[in-house]
Amino acid sequence: MSSNLSQSNALDAFLIEVTKRNVTGGIAFLLPTNHHPQVNCRALDNNFDVIVIGAGFCGSIIALKAAELGLSVRILDGQEDYPDEFRAEKLEPDQFEALEDLGLIDLVRPRAENFIAEVHALKGKREKIIPCHKHRGMDYSATVNSFRKELREQELLVIEKIEQVHDTPAGCEVVLPDGSSFRGKLCVVATGVSKGLRKSLGLQMHARNALISTTFGFDIEPASDEHFPFQAFNVYPERFTSGLQYLTFFPIGDRMRCNLFTCWKPGGIKAKRLRTETLAELRARFPGLVERIGPFRISSKVQVFTTHYYRQSVSHLNSVVLVGDAYQSVSPATGVGLSKCLSDVQSLLGLLQDKSASSLAGMDNDAFYLKTTKRRVDDNALQRWRWANESSTSRSFMTVLKSVKRTPAALWVRQLITYPQSVDN
Ligand SMILES: Cc1cc2nc3c(=O)[nH]c(=O)nc-3n(C[C@H](O)[C@H](O)[C@H](O)COP(=O)(O)OP(=O)(O)OC[C@H]3O[C@@H](n4cnc5c(N)ncnc54)[C@H](O)[C@@H]3O)c2cc1C
Repeated sequence: MSSNLSQSNALDAFLIEVTKRNVTGGIAFLLPTNHHPQVNCRALDNNFDVIVIGAGFCGSIIALKAAELGLSVRILDGQEDYPDEFRAEKLEPDQFEALEDLGLIDLVRPRAENFIAEVHALKGKREKIIPCHKHRGMDYSATVNSFRKELREQELLVIEKIEQVHDTPAGCEVVLPDGSSFRGKLCVVATGVSKGLRKSLGLQMHARNALISTTFGFDIEPASDEHFPFQAFNVYPERFTSGLQYLTFFPIGDRMRCNLFTCWKPGGIKAKRLRTETLAELRARFPGLVERIGPFRISSKVQVFTTHYYRQSVSHLNSVVLVGDAYQSVSPATGVGLSKCLSDVQSLLGLLQDKSASSLAGMDNDAFYLKTTKRRVDDNALQRWRWANESSTSRSFMTVLKSVKRTPAALWVRQLITYPQSVDN
C-alpha cells in the first residue's frame, strides 16, 4: 500500500514538473494539485472544450449536459457546497418541463411528492381557487448540491474561485489562484449575481437602479396543532400600498414557506420594519389574513434579498459567454429567473450540439445572444420586471390602460408582432 502511494506521489511530481515546462503565451499551465480532489491528477492535458465558471443552477446544468455531448468539460466554483442562500424556491410548469426534458427533474430536492395541486388567490374578500399542474416547492441549495454530486461523480468539478480570465479569438484561459490555469475553447461564465469577473472580462453593465426588488423569505407554522387550510396561498394587497407586490405561501417538503415580494429600497423604513417586526407588519398590511388561514408563527430566520436590473455588455467578448444572472438579473417577483437560466442552457446546448469541438473557439457569440428564443425570454423578464414595479407603485390612468394591454390575449398578439416565429437564428 505504502509503496503504491509513493509511486503515485513520484508520478504526480513528475507530471507536475513536465507540465510546468509547458509554457504557452508566457503563462505556465500547471496540473491541478492535491487541493482539487475532484480532478483526475494524472490528466496531462488541461485543455478542455468547455470551461464553466460557477457551479450554481445554470452552470451545473450546462456542465452536465455538455459532458453528455461528449465534450471535455471542467466546472469551477469558489465554494465546496452551494450555501443556504435565498434564491428561487418554487418551480413553475415551464421550468419543471424544461428540467424533465433535460432528464434532471429527479435531481430537484425535495423529491416529487411535493406537488402543488391548487393555489388559493385572495384579494380583499374575493378568493379564487386555481388548479395547478407541475408546480412544486424547491430547496434551491439542496437542488444545486444534488447537481454538484453528479458533477463530482463525473470528476468535472474543481473548487477554486476564479478572478482572472483571458479571452482571445483562439480560446480562453482561466487562471487559478495559484497562477496555474485551464484552457478552454469556450468559457461559460455562470457566476450569478457575483461581481467577481467583471473587471477581468472588461464587462460593463447596462443597469437601471430604479428597477429594484426586495424579497423576504421565511418559514411559518400554525400556532396551534391544526394544519393550514390550504396547500398554497397567494395574497394580494387589498388597498394600494406603494411598492408592496404580493405574498405567497407554498410547501417545500414538510415546511410551509412564505415569500413576500416588494420593490422597496432595502434601507428604507418599510423594509426594515418588515424584517424586524415581520408578523405585526403582515397583519397590518394584509388585514383578514390571519382570520383566513388561522394564527401562525414565523419559524425560521427572515431572509432578505435585494436586486436591481442589469444586463451586461458582451459584444467585445470572443470565446466567453455569460449565462443566467451573470448576464442579466431578474426580479424574483416575476418568477422567471429559472426560465431565463433554462432558456440559456437550451440555447447554448443547441449551439454546442451543432458545432464540432474544433470549431468552438471564437464561436459566433451573436448566434447565442441574438437567438430569438433567448432574446424573447430575456426581454420578457425585463418587461415583467418593469410592469411588476409600475403596477405596484403607480395608480395613474396610463397604468390602468396598460393593465388592459397586458391581458394574456393582448400580450400574445404583441409577441407575434415583435418576433417573427419562422426566424430562429
Ligand atoms: C430571493 C430570490 C427569489 C427568487 N425567486 C425566484 C422564483 O420564484 N422563480 C424563479 O424562476 N427565479 C427566482 N429567482 C431568480 C433565480 O433564483 C436566479 O435567476 C437563479 O438562481 C440564477 O442562477 P445562476 O446559476 O445564474 O446563479 P447561482 O445559482 O447563484 O450560481 C452562481 C455560482 O457561481 C459561483 N461563483 C460566483 N463567483 C465565482 C467566481 N469568481 N469563481 C468561481 N465561482 C463563482 C457561486 O459560488 C455560485 O455557486 C429568485 C431570486 C432571488 C434572489
